[in-house]
Amino acid sequence: MKYVPDKTGRFLKRPHYEPTELDGECDAIIRGFLKAKYGDAKFPISTDDLTCLIEQDASDLDLYADLSKEGPDIQGVTDFYPKSKPGVRIDRRLSENPSYENRLRTTLTHEYGHVRFHDYVWKLDLKPADMLAEVPSKVSPKCNRGAILNAAATDWMEWQAGYISGALLMPVSVLMKLFSDYTKEKSIFAPIYAESEHGQACRRMLMESFKVSDEAAKVRLLKLNLL
Ligand SMILES: [Zn+2]
Repeated sequence: MKYVPDKTGRFLKRPHYEPTELDGECDAIIRGFLKAKYGDAKFPISTDDLTCLIEQDASDLDLYADLSKEGPDIQGVTDFYPKSKPGVRIDRRLSENPSYENRLRTTLTHEYGHVRFHDYVWKLDLKPADMLAEVPSKVSPKCNRGAILNAAATDWMEWQAGYISGALLMPVSVLMKLFSDYTKEKSIFAPIYAESEHGQACRRMLMESFKVSDEAAKVRLLKLNLL
């Protein structure tokens, strides 16, 4: 990781990660969390465990928030506070409707990305006067449905949180083992066409192994240059 100037103007400087660095850190975070809790890291990680992971590093997690006033299609918000750990709010519709569970899982891991990788960044810029404010910072990320998985790279904070979401749900070490077992068995080489028979089979394999949507599986494989 290195610091570069923040062209979005939100911060003076911001962290730049290579995708392999995010993969390595997320792999260690999620496996470490599961090993500490169960003595072993098994996937898919349960949705309850994802909420425990957030509660471990955030001051508060509200799974039943009304986010309608935050903007159109906002599914998750991470509130950065000057003097405490961040708080996370998730759109209640994701928690109340079991058919949205995959979306809930990607939103939880996306917000965790902001908690773990971004809260400290804005604190670097805090001035003494800012420390007196009890309200959440104006730079607190409000995350739109379209950007949860795959934001444009120009919005580095959303792009990183989207990458982190995939890297926590589908850790690189476990995914690469599954993928290489599959390609060896079929005698094929990456990258494979996303819509081919093998591409679709790999997407299904990830959906079942990690409990994610087809879209999340496809985005993850594309980002790892496997499709
Ligand atoms: Zn976000």
